[in-house]
Amino acid sequence: MYRLATPRPTTATRVLRVRVKDRHKVWLSSLAREVNLVWNYCNDLQIRVFERERKLLSGFDFWPYLKGSTRGDAALLLPVQAVQETAEQFARSRKQHSKVRLAWRKSGGARRSLGWVPFKVRTIRHAHGQVYFAGRWLSLWDSWGLGGHELRAGNFSEDARGRWYLNVTVTVDVRRGAPELLPRLPAQADAIGIDLGLKELATCSDGTTVAAQRFYRNIEPALASAQRSGKKQRVKALHAKIGNRRKDFLHKLTTTMARSHHVVCVGDVNAKALARGRHAKSVLDAGWSTMRTMLRYKCADAGAWFVEVPEAGTSRMCCACGAASGPQGVEGLDVRQWTCDVCRVAHDRDVNAARNILARGVAILEEQFAAAGEARAVEAAVNEVGGLHGRSAGAGHGPPVVGIAAL
Ligand SMILES: [Zn+2]
Repeated sequence: MYRLATPRPTTATRVLRVRVKDRHKVWLSSLAREVNLVWNYCNDLQIRVFERERKLLSGFDFWPYLKGSTRGDAALLLPVQAVQETAEQFARSRKQHSKVRLAWRKSGGARRSLGWVPFKVRTIRHAHGQVYFAGRWLSLWDSWGLGGHELRAGNFSEDARGRWYLNVTVTVDVRRGAPELLPRLPAQADAIGIDLGLKELATCSDGTTVAAQRFYRNIEPALASAQRSGKKQRVKALHAKIGNRRKDFLHKLTTTMARSHHVVCVGDVNAKALARGRHAKSVLDAGWSTMRTMLRYKCADAGAWFVEVPEAGTSRMCCACGAASGPQGVEGLDVRQWTCDVCRVAHDRDVNAARNILARGVAILEEQFAAAGEARAVEAAVNEVGGLHGRSAGAGHGPPVVGIAAL
């Protein structure tokens, strides 16, 4: 059997995420309020047009209505391309969710939408370590070396802690030895380790926890009664309901996690093995593998590293001194708090595991960065010998290898 070899792509699109300095917070938030205004205007218009004509609007259809928004006395601060992009994003989301109307974006109150300001290609410009957007120069913590890339479309987004990021797509060369994407590992402070569990769905290395949801258990009585009375449609509907609720919950959780960190490390806990035991329903309810899949692609979208870490022994090892002094085996499962015999540090079982997962994940990344650095150093040397221009690719700076962003 012969198979035609498809040529390997030489370029790929990646999203780089760069933290915007806090002094621009207020200004970016005011832009985000305008984006919400435009979004809600589109939503309102779509609802009314649909009521009248049963017609769904495309992004382009909104343009004439938004024409005057950036001119005159009441002009928006947003550049016209950002207004258009907001309308187009609205139309795309509406289509994707097959809905006539979407949720309103709220600029205030307890359920405020996190700030978001989209822009099109050629609306931002980079020079001397800053980016120019909507008439202002913004300072950044440029961990990627944005100057080396052509900046395409993207957005500014706010995370749950009120920090702002620039997420911008760039085209990168993915041939082996091509110029690297990342000059250095991001600060450990922006990295997080996540221990997946049953009682707490997720325990993070910073001590935060996410309680497991009981979608299945909550709906079980209704499901049982529908099954007993042979209502097949009702059973189907209930299963769909459980699925939707779980997906919705996991989407919100993973979006926040991916957006607020540069590195996300997750244990490789195996749901299948556990699903056979007495915790079967809780395991299936937890949705670990769905969560990992979502985290993987959301991290790729947000420009964060995603690392899946072998979690064997992460509960047992003390994250402070590395001794295997923690609870062990089946009888150890009920031990929530323990103190290390060696270094006397008191631990919460899951937080300790999450910290070990974080340390392992960062070690895996560092190893790959170092390996990529060596590969490039070798190539540079070969190029020099061959009389070509060797790139002065400092081997000490760990760049990522091909596909590392797809970890
Ligand atoms: Zn210890």
